[in-house]
Amino acid sequence: MSDPNYDPNNIFAKILRGEAPAHKVYEDEWCLGFMDVMPQTPGHTLVIPKDPTTDVFHADPEILGRTMQAVQKVATAVQAAFAAQGIMLVQLNGKAAGQTVFHLHVHILPRQSGVDMRMHAQDMADPEVLADHASRVRDALGS
Ligand code: 5GP
Repeated sequence: MSDPNYDPNNIFAKILRGEAPAHKVYEDEWCLGFMDVMPQTPGHTLVIPKDPTTDVFHADPEILGRTMQAVQKVATAVQAAFAAQGIMLVQLNGKAAGQTVFHLHVHILPRQSGVDMRMHAQDMADPEVLADHASRVRDALGS
């Protein structure tokens, strides 16, 4: 299942190794959750497996299951923290599908009726806002 083309220097691998900063909200043995630095909606959060996995096709099914269990927990907290009317889960595979970071991840996007999303991976958020949003999600997770 492992991907010989996996780039260990992708940004999420660096976050996992502590070589790049992130506003973390969740961690367990298999997964990490943190705020997307270019949020498409307020509260846009990512969950990634710790395994060096490029995409869904190269994921160990066990790890994929663990990842979705973490997504369920984090999405529940994001929904509460942002009083979201809806939660959108997005997971892109391959450049043609719009994937820009080649380490498997699931986007958790809080949505409100009639409010459009911003463009994908476009505008950097204010770090103070991200810190506040991360703290709201952590509070909702009780961690
Ligand atoms: P993809 O296009 O691969 O589905 O999504 C990659 C996501 O990673 C984008 O939403 C983008 O905003 C986010 N991203 C890119 N670089 C960083 C970073 O350095 N830190 C964080 N937290 N998110 C990032």
